[in-house]
Amino acid sequence: MMALAGYPLGIRSLFLDRSEDTPGAQVADTLVGGLEDPQLLAELAGRSDVLTFDWENISGKALAPLAHLSLIRPPAAALEISQDRLHEKALFRRLKIPVTPHRAVDDLVGLREATRVIGFPGVLKTRRLGYDGKGQFVLRGAADVSIAWDQLGGSGLIYEKFLRFSREISIVGARSQDDRIVSYPLTANTHAGGILRYSVAPYANAKLERLAVTYLRRVLKVLAYVGVAAIEFFVVGGRLIANEMAPRVHNSGHWTIEGAVTSQFENHLRAICELPLGSTRALGHTAMINFLGNLPDRRRLLAIDGLAYHDYGKEPRPGRKLGHCTIQRPRATDRDDALAATLKLIEWT
Ligand code: AMP
Repeated sequence: MMALAGYPLGIRSLFLDRSEDTPGAQVADTLVGGLEDPQLLAELAGRSDVLTFDWENISGKALAPLAHLSLIRPPAAALEISQDRLHEKALFRRLKIPVTPHRAVDDLVGLREATRVIGFPGVLKTRRLGYDGKGQFVLRGAADVSIAWDQLGGSGLIYEKFLRFSREISIVGARSQDDRIVSYPLTANTHAGGILRYSVAPYANAKLERLAVTYLRRVLKVLAYVGVAAIEFFVVGGRLIANEMAPRVHNSGHWTIEGAVTSQFENHLRAICELPLGSTRALGHTAMINFLGNLPDRRRLLAIDGLAYHDYGKEPRPGRKLGHCTIQRPRATDRDDALAATLKLIEWT
């Protein structure tokens, strides 16, 4: 999606990925190999004006030797902080952004202690490499402690209070090299099993939007960030509690391809290539639905007025994000009706 956004701007992409069979390789040249392979990274950097990511788990150590070959945006420090849930929460706290009560857990004794202090229910998560609900276990009571430990023990963990939130929202925005910051309207996200199912935007709540923008600006500024980033929040009693940040374009921002004047992908490229950032204004009311595990019938979906279909060309696997669709309407209520009708045609597997 980023490469496609670059074409009309005259920006060409070169990817590094672990196989030839990737969405990126369908639309741009791809170097195939390990994501931290020094030779491939050096080739990638040598052939590029700027290096960027749509995955945050590349080590700063692997990137350090590339700094003289190419610009690296966003900065490696932003990747490193968001690679570790504990560091991420420490950054939020330092910036006075509320977070869920949590404790680092390194052994079974530590887990017992964390559940004693924080209580039940709680979520045990791996500090690193967790995504889409992977590396997480919800503990409802003391009987779950050893089961959770058996499943996740061994790597660095974090235990956090399970929040009874009224909603999950995210803010997606971009910062340019010359410190301009733009943000999209808030997005309301519905997850199940830790995976994003669908998003709607704009989520109209002026107070929460002001708060989210304030928090996003703090994070982008302190990291001297360049590019698009997202922060996911829980809404609890009219407050925002930060869950995590993504130093990259974000699934909850996919609606901006059709639903905003400038998409998150284009704004990311504009930011990292030092072009003026584009308008983030919403064009009506949009819903984005993920295709998980299988692709729905394209013919039936395309018969829905104003629906845009995105097939990433990925091999189906249970729970894997294979594509998405967006639907737009001038009014929020009509968007919600169209969303409900479309959801009936989609089965998540
Ligand atoms: P994460 O990988 O942290 O984004 O978690 C994935 C999803 O799991 C979130 O979007 C929530 O729906 C749910 N979740 C994660 N942490 C918590 C929590 N502390 N309380 C309640 N739900 C959570």
